[in-house]
Amino acid sequence: MTQPNLNPDLRVVVLGAGMSGILSGIKLLEAGYRNVTIYEKASRVGGTWRENTYPGLTCDVPSHAYTYSFEPNAEWSRQLPPGAEVQGYFEQTTRKYKIDELIRFNQEAKRCEFVGGRWHLETASGVRDEADVVIAATGVLHHPRTPNLPGLKDFRGDLLHSARWDHTVPLDGKRIGIIGNGSTGVQLVSALASRAGKLKHFQRTAQWVMPVENPFFTEEQKQAFRDDPALLKRMQNDETYLANVERFTTAVADASSPEIAMIEAIVLDNLERSVQDPVLREKLRPNYRAACKRLIFSPDYYQAIQHPNAELVVDDIETLTERGVRTRDGVEHELDVLVLATGFHADRFMRPMQITGRDGRRLDDVWAKRPHAYLAISIPEFPNFFMLNGPTSPVGNFSLIDVAEKQWDYIAQLLNLLRSGACTEIAATQQALDAYEAARLAAAKNTIFASGCNSWYLDGEGVPASWPWNYARFRDVMATPDLSAFEQTVSRAVQGVAG
Ligand code: NAP
Repeated sequence: MTQPNLNPDLRVVVLGAGMSGILSGIKLLEAGYRNVTIYEKASRVGGTWRENTYPGLTCDVPSHAYTYSFEPNAEWSRQLPPGAEVQGYFEQTTRKYKIDELIRFNQEAKRCEFVGGRWHLETASGVRDEADVVIAATGVLHHPRTPNLPGLKDFRGDLLHSARWDHTVPLDGKRIGIIGNGSTGVQLVSALASRAGKLKHFQRTAQWVMPVENPFFTEEQKQAFRDDPALLKRMQNDETYLANVERFTTAVADASSPEIAMIEAIVLDNLERSVQDPVLREKLRPNYRAACKRLIFSPDYYQAIQHPNAELVVDDIETLTERGVRTRDGVEHELDVLVLATGFHADRFMRPMQITGRDGRRLDDVWAKRPHAYLAISIPEFPNFFMLNGPTSPVGNFSLIDVAEKQWDYIAQLLNLLRSGACTEIAATQQALDAYEAARLAAAKNTIFASGCNSWYLDGEGVPASWPWNYARFRDVMATPDLSAFEQTVSRAVQGVAG
C-alpha cells in the first residue's frame, strides 16, 4: 500500500526477471509503485534456473530456505529440489503476484545512461525508455565460460555447455565426457554415470565434498505444511539451517576459525569413508583447504564416480580431437558427447550493457580494476541505480534469495527518500565506497577463499570478490542505511520548479 506523501509515480525500471527481478517487482507493487517495468532479455522468467536445464540440476540449498520469505511453498518435493521445480516456483510466483504484467520479454537492455537527472535506456531491439530509478537484477552466473582448449572446433561429437543444454542430444548408452567438477559438473556426473555407456569425468583440480541428505517430503508432510502455515514457516526458518549459515559464514570469513576446522573434518571424513579404492581416493583428495572453492554439497557424487561406468581422468587435457579428448599422457578418450561444465564469467554482472553515470562516467572504466560497489548496492556518481546480488555481495552455500531480500529492504529505504521528495538523486559517496573497499579488501585476505586455490570467487587480481564478513554482520548492515554514506541531491530542474 502507498504510504501518504510517497509519490506512487516514481518510474522504476528493473533489469532482469530472475529471482531478484521478480522479488523487486513484487516488493515495488506491494509498496504502491505503479510505474514499473521489468526488462527481460529472454522470453521467460527464471534467470539461472531458466538457463540451466542440464540433467541432474538440483538446488543444493534446502528447498524451504530457497524460497521467498513471503511465499512459502508446501509443495517442494524434496530437501534439495530439482532445477525444474525451482523454475516452476518462480513462474508460479510471478503469475500469482501479477509480475508478468510488468515484464517486457525479449528485451535485452543494451544502454543505460544518466542524463538530465533521469536514466535513459535502450534495448537491443531499439526500445527506448526513461526512468527515475534503475534496479539491476541481472544475476552473476549468466555468461557461460568456454575454455580455450585446442581442438575445440575439431570435435565431431555433440559438444554442450552445461548452461546451454540441448535436450535432443541422446545420452543413454553413450560415451560421455564431462569437463569440470564444480557444483555443476558433479551434479552431471551423479545424473549420468548410470545412464552413460561410459562416462569420463575430467578433473583439473579435486574438490572437497560435503555430504548431504536429500529425502523426499512425504504426502503426509506436504499435507501438514498445507494445513499449518506456522509449521511451514518453521520449515522456512529452520533453526538447523540458520545455525549452519551462521556457522558457515563465520567459517569462511576466518580461515583460522574453529568453524572452518569443523567443516574440514567433515569433508575429510566423507572422502575417507566414501571412496574405497585408495588410488581413486588420492585422485579425489584436494591439496587446498575445504571451502576455498565453493563447497560441493552432494549426496551421491562419490557413489557416482565409483559406478562401474564412470572413470575419473586427472591427466591434463592436451587437446580435443575429432573423436574426443587427448590427455597429456597420450591417451585419446573417445566420446560421443562432451560437456563443458566449465562455469561462467562471474565478473560481467550487468555488462556488456553500456552503463554511463553522471558526466559521462562509464561503468567499464569505473570497474576497470574490479567490479565494486558500496555494500554491493550503490556506485558513486551512478545515482538512483541499485544492484541486487551485485559485486561483493555474499556468496556461498546458502540462499541468495535471502541475500536479495535483505538488500531489497535496504534499497527500499533509499527509494523512500526519492518518493518522499527528500531528494531527487541518491548514490553512495566515493569516500564511503573507498572506506568500504579498504575494509573489505583487508578482511578478504583472512577468508578461506583466499587460502590458496583458484575459483570464480576471486577477482582478476586474485582477491575474493565477495562479502568477507559473516552473515550476522550482513544482516545488521542491511537493516538500516547509514545515510552519511550517501550523497543526496535535489536536481537543478526540480530546484528551478520549486523556486
Ligand atoms: P565452476 O564452479 O566455475 O567450475 C568450473 C569447472 O570447470 C572447474 O572444475 C574448473 O576446474 C573446470 N575448468 C574450467 N576450465 C577448464 C579447463 N580449461 N580445463 C579443465 N577444467 C576446466 O562452475 P560451475 O560448476 O558451473 O558452478 C558455478 C557456480 O554455479 C557454483 O559455484 C554455484 O555458485 C552455482 N551453482 C549452484 C548450484 C546449486 O545447486 N545451487 C548448482 C550448480 C551451480 P578448476 O577447478 O581447475 O578451475
